[in-house]
Amino acid sequence: MKEFNVAVAGATGAVGNEMVATLEQRKFPVKNLKLLASSRSVGNTISFKGMDLKVEELNEESFKGVDIGLFSPGGSVSLKFAPIAAASGCVVIDNTSAFRMEPDIPLVVPEVNEHAIKDYKNRGIIANPNCSTIQMVVILKHLHDAARIKRVVVSTYQAVSGTGKKAIYELEQQVLAIYGQNEIVKKVYPHQIAFNCLPHIDSFIENGYTKEEMKMVNETKKIMEDQNIQVTATTVRVPVFYGHSESVNVEFEKDLTPEEAREILSKAPGVKVVDNPSKNLYPLAINAAGKDDIFVGRIRRDESVAHGLNMWIVADNIRKGAALNAVQIAEVLAKKYL
Ligand code: NAP
Repeated sequence: MKEFNVAVAGATGAVGNEMVATLEQRKFPVKNLKLLASSRSVGNTISFKGMDLKVEELNEESFKGVDIGLFSPGGSVSLKFAPIAAASGCVVIDNTSAFRMEPDIPLVVPEVNEHAIKDYKNRGIIANPNCSTIQMVVILKHLHDAARIKRVVVSTYQAVSGTGKKAIYELEQQVLAIYGQNEIVKKVYPHQIAFNCLPHIDSFIENGYTKEEMKMVNETKKIMEDQNIQVTATTVRVPVFYGHSESVNVEFEKDLTPEEAREILSKAPGVKVVDNPSKNLYPLAINAAGKDDIFVGRIRRDESVAHGLNMWIVADNIRKGAALNAVQIAEVLAKKYL
């Protein structure tokens, strides 16, 4: 079997760390693994297949001889280094928002639009969508094929790990400070996140939405390849460490019963239906954490419209929302294109 030289850019971050673990867990055919981060992390080690690999500083020479680059070093760093990597023959799978809406760069969730991966040839870059979008579109795709979606109204309950390792630390420290009756330190978020909900993810833009909300609108249309699907989103940060939850209301062109939706979704790869309210069974962030599947439940009719369903969708934002989706893309590249 062919093996590949792989680099992880942002390897010391929440997503990068999980990428390294996912490559190992899924036995991706790695010949050589290069771990890249900022100068702050040089000398740190990360374990891969029982070896302690040293972290190197990301620079313009980093991608010589590298076949696949899994990127999560932040938008501005990707914007600079992804084209440099691509120019040296490395195929970049980028987790940041830097390239997602570029028309000639594929934005891919393999369960939805795997065929778009071939367009990596345009610029040598494939974009990995936003974590909240990934878990929603996998569910929507199957329902859209069955009954054509007209409109989606989504509210998210997003974990702090979606902001990165500093935010995980901030929630931990605030909880400890509250119990210890010490001063609460706010560095990552503008308000206390412990025991609170912030209707504010990424920055606000002129239309009153946040960038995160508009990512859900625009990325959904691009991945589903249907500009007619109307989407509106409210994205909320909640004091959960791992796992994004979403309340999703979907209006269809034709009728789809909750039973039909459960039947369709129970056969969908990468999806688990957990929907038995009489036994208190529904998807929970604490159960999704560390898992690969997207969990869906609370499927019920929206009785206020002709053809509508409500549902609750939960997934691990660091795995399917980031690292796993990127490694799945790399698997398709390795199998079909490289
Ligand atoms: P994080 O935990 O803060 O990690 C950031 C990583 O980028 C670290 O490895 C950091 O290295 C590295 N980095 C920062 N500045 C750098 C520079 N100048 N040169 C090289 N490396 C640099 O953040 P994260 O949560 O992993 O997210 C990273 C990116 O992925 C973001 O763009 C984010 O939007 C995106 N993303 C995150 C999620 C999620 O759920 N967390 C999901 C999808 C996409 P040091 O340790 O050396 O500082």
